[in-house]
Amino acid sequence: MIRRGLSAAERAAVLGRAKAAALVQAATASPRDFATLPQMRVMEELRRQAEARGIPNPFFQPHEAVAGPRTVVAGREMLNFASYNYLDLNGDPRVNAAAAEAMARHGTSASASRMVSGERPVHAALEAALAANYEAEAALAMVSGHATNVTVIGHLMGPEDLVVHDQLAHNSITEGVRLSGARRLAFAHNDAAAAERALAGARGRARRALVVIEGHYSMDGTVPDLAAFRDLARRHEAWLMVDEAHGLGCLGPTGRGVFEAQGVAPEAADIWMGTLSKTLAGAGGYVAGRRALVDWLRHTAPGFVYSVGLPPPIAAAAGCALALMRAEPWRVERLQANTARFRAALQAAGFDTGGSSGGSIVPVLLGDSLRAAQVAAGLARRGVNAQPIGFPVVPEGLARIRFFLSCAHQPAMLDAAVAALAEAAREAG
Ligand code: PMP
Repeated sequence: MIRRGLSAAERAAVLGRAKAAALVQAATASPRDFATLPQMRVMEELRRQAEARGIPNPFFQPHEAVAGPRTVVAGREMLNFASYNYLDLNGDPRVNAAAAEAMARHGTSASASRMVSGERPVHAALEAALAANYEAEAALAMVSGHATNVTVIGHLMGPEDLVVHDQLAHNSITEGVRLSGARRLAFAHNDAAAAERALAGARGRARRALVVIEGHYSMDGTVPDLAAFRDLARRHEAWLMVDEAHGLGCLGPTGRGVFEAQGVAPEAADIWMGTLSKTLAGAGGYVAGRRALVDWLRHTAPGFVYSVGLPPPIAAAAGCALALMRAEPWRVERLQANTARFRAALQAAGFDTGGSSGGSIVPVLLGDSLRAAQVAAGLARRGVNAQPIGFPVVPEGLARIRFFLSCAHQPAMLDAAVAALAEAAREAG
């Protein structure tokens, strides 16, 4: 029998048991025992609870096709709402051809750091196109989006500095701040006044200051007021960095991002950051901004200098995807129309979509992690793939199923997913 999710008391019991077990283990186990590592116990306890309730593990399921509006998991075709393939460019024959051509010319690897023999023409071409998107002087692409934030923030800021960031900032941002040793202050989500209070209170003691926001928050689909953050950063002599991992391709009439959506000149941000893994159908990260910044990073940032260049086929694929985004704005229009339609249908069916307002991400808030997993399992049984997100990625109690939309979803697919979600939620209680 399928049971509902955890009550508050059960939730407290799970965490309590995990803590108690960790304490006993800490007292008795060898420090070389991997089981003593942080979060190991909570992870195990949640897994045990899921198993006891008959909830199949939703993670690490291999997909056997290009994950577009549909995918194939364990031989079964499903509707798919769990991939960042926003503009349906991953798998596009033109993107594949660009990658194949670069692979034929250069192989699959850059085989060295860019600085020392790893540079290929596709790198500069991609960076010129990225810089153009932001009307910036220059851009630099690196092999991982996560590592881009870590190395750029970690290298740019130091222990005498201050970083003020949104409380929902991606892990790569907070890890970058941790590496930098800078003082770190988080402000309430999208609250520019709170950001300014934090900045004003601590700015005097800091050498340099950085405000970091995202253009489109990945867990919530929320969007900040870019001009407000630009103004407060300038008032306090701070840099503004905007992570557009989920903004590019999703926001603005032609997908250029949050600045285009809000009619704000792109010079608003000192550092535009983004990833190649979503709209751009590849993997990797980039920054765009002033030439001095980019030049300094390309010669000194550890995650760039001491890391291999982006694989040429991936650089070519991302460059091709960016060109297609610019040439085919109907993709962006359709993505945004799909997202608006899906969000409205969910709300009409009584679901809580939080503050989601952006062009591609819609969360459905469901309470605790086990309930989200139960509802996602119910969806999967009905042929819909959407990922549950629970503790510790989001606070316990704010667990959700996160839906990523694509320009290639058909209206009937969206309606089918809402109907399946309503049934799965009813079944889970
Ligand atoms: N920034 C944000 C806001 C993200 O959501 C992500 C991951 N999706 C990253 C950075 C890291 O990017 P990547 O997965 O391409 O390493």
